[in-house]
Amino acid sequence: MTGILNKAYDPELFRIQGHPLIDRMAAYLESCYHDRELPVLEAGEPQDLWKIWTDLAPDADLMDMLEPVLRFANRLHHPRYAGHQVVPPVPLAALGEMVSALLNNGMAIYEMGPSGTVIEREVIEWLGRKCGFDSPDGFLTSGGTAGNLTALLAARQHKVPGNVWANGLPAGMRPGVMVSSTAHYSIDRAVRVMGWGAAGIIPLPVDEAFRIDPSRMEEAFSAARQQGITPVALVGSAGTTATGTYDDLAFLAAFCRDHNLWFHVDGAHGGAVVLSEKYRHLARGFELADSIVIDFHKLLLTPALTTAVLFREGSRSYSTFAQEADYLLDPADRPWYDSAARTLECTKKMMGLKIYLLRRSYGDEIFREYIDSRYDMTRRFAQMVVERPGWEIATAPMSNILCFRYAPSGLGPEETNNLNATLRERFRQEGRFYLVKTLLDGRLWLRMTVMNPFTAEPEMRDILDLAEGWAGERPVSRG
Ligand SMILES: *Cc1c(COP(=O)(O)O)cnc(C)c1O
Repeated sequence: MTGILNKAYDPELFRIQGHPLIDRMAAYLESCYHDRELPVLEAGEPQDLWKIWTDLAPDADLMDMLEPVLRFANRLHHPRYAGHQVVPPVPLAALGEMVSALLNNGMAIYEMGPSGTVIEREVIEWLGRKCGFDSPDGFLTSGGTAGNLTALLAARQHKVPGNVWANGLPAGMRPGVMVSSTAHYSIDRAVRVMGWGAAGIIPLPVDEAFRIDPSRMEEAFSAARQQGITPVALVGSAGTTATGTYDDLAFLAAFCRDHNLWFHVDGAHGGAVVLSEKYRHLARGFELADSIVIDFHKLLLTPALTTAVLFREGSRSYSTFAQEADYLLDPADRPWYDSAARTLECTKKMMGLKIYLLRRSYGDEIFREYIDSRYDMTRRFAQMVVERPGWEIATAPMSNILCFRYAPSGLGPEETNNLNATLRERFRQEGRFYLVKTLLDGRLWLRMTVMNPFTAEPEMRDILDLAEGWAGERPVSRG
């Protein structure tokens, strides 16, 4: 070994670097929680940030390299973070992630990662049973996008006649997936990845609350058939991305049963509700799904990227990829412990450990408390918004996502959109809050996802006060 490798792998150096690093990360958390002046996000333009990294002194030490990372982070642990659907991880889960990273036991087959493999099974059984499955099976994979694709590939294998994996589609067949425009774009993408094109997406109309409209499904089904498309699957959302709305899953399940469709539930965001008591009813119909996807990095408190793909009939998870990579897998049987047979990935991270650590250290109670408190708080915020003159919400929140906007009387539709776009930009520039915006039926809304466990009423009140103040400064024409 050269000197540099000896140094880089030195256990003592790991100790020397690691201890102060943990202290620094703990200080990061403290400042997020308590420092009133700390912005949520202070990153400027990409080209400015780029200079920090290209101009770093040649003799920069570890902390010199890490300080700008911490400084320009989007601080998810800050109670004024209410942006995207990514959770501020519980610190213990980050420690678990570090252990996984150092061991680097990727787990395509059992021997590559024995502990990770069996821990993953424990996690899958636990969550599968919470979904109401009697003999669940499935796996962890790298994100909801990959999870949705894998589930739809399983749907294809089971609902398209013949063996698609081996032989492709039967001649002349044009399969399609029934899905609403409010579903996450990864569904649309998965359909196109499968080669079914835009025509493979059978649009389902939604009602004014952004839920799939049960009364118009039959019509969508017939229209697709008339155009030569064979519907093979239907996707329900357990928490749409824009508004956090739950479809009527029990109804969708019955429709699927009557029409011989695979029923997939995209619960990437809100599937976690199976761990709540108060809001468990939103998951009614989960037990009837053929497949369900749930992200752990959204409402289940762990660092990205970990997603459960769960199958009601566990055996179906084995037939998605009939192809054998025979240097890895014994073609004679398909043991549960060789994960690559069932996942899109070959090597994948040891994903289950951080979840297991949380669950065994804090019990399921930690998830319940988190979900219930965030869903409760979002309902409270919605109430605060509608009580304020000039403010409105897009729809009553069903989860922890709220779309709202300032629409003082006298402003036209376009002016109102511009006003809210300006407000959102001002929040970002000043780093006072991190929230995003979304367009629904031509109307622009401020969108918050209440991910931080410590966001409470004072933060919400500040958002509304600040926005009203800024709107007042601005030369807006009032009718
Ligand atoms: C976030 C999300 C996805 C995508 O999941 P990733 O883990 O980001 O790949 C899919 N569906 C829904 C409903 C989501 O909210």
